[in-house]
Amino acid sequence: MTKKFNSRLVEWVNDLGQYLLQDMKALEKRNFKDSDVLSDALSYIYLQKDFGQSDYKSAKLEFDQVINKLQKLPTKKCPFCNGEMVDNTDVIILKQYMKNFGFSSFSGAYRDQCNENVWLGNLNWSCYGCETLATDPPKDTAKVWLNIPEIRKKKIFASIVFKKFPEVEAMSLEGAAGRGWLLKFNETWYSNSKVKAELVKVWEL
Ligand SMILES: [Zn+2]
Repeated sequence: MTKKFNSRLVEWVNDLGQYLLQDMKALEKRNFKDSDVLSDALSYIYLQKDFGQSDYKSAKLEFDQVINKLQKLPTKKCPFCNGEMVDNTDVIILKQYMKNFGFSSFSGAYRDQCNENVWLGNLNWSCYGCETLATDPPKDTAKVWLNIPEIRKKKIFASIVFKKFPEVEAMSLEGAAGRGWLLKFNETWYSNSKVKAELVKVWEL
């Protein structure tokens, strides 16, 4: 039976975890009797390390308990693309598994070994549609455009965004190496690292 998760990150870690648990179960069943005794024994040691448990039964019990806690994370409508935003705050309890299962954290983004699944790294509200993330406010030194008539008259990207989303109070930019575009909406700052042209598309500006 496939479980339904709100968070893709939970889904990926669970998929990989269940797959590794099956490996552990199979190895215990074979009892290292084939010709591959040494490689089997090594694989088993790695699995024990990954799950922090000495056998399949206790590893499965603990891992499933952790995953079940994350089955229904809070959701809300993304104010920018109307997609689903998920609050990944509680996913912090999966952090040890992400590391053990080979999800590496590079400049805040988690990716699996095949680079198929890339997570943008925030353990907060995140939209799967347009990849907008709840974030910290911009630095004190950052340039901030306020949603005021004077700015809306200017031919800048912020004015296009303010016209489409009148509720956005302010915008800032941290560039490609930072968090990208920052937007203040309902007392919360959000970030999106897409370039203008992509944002025009996903937010229908
Ligand atoms: Zn969105």
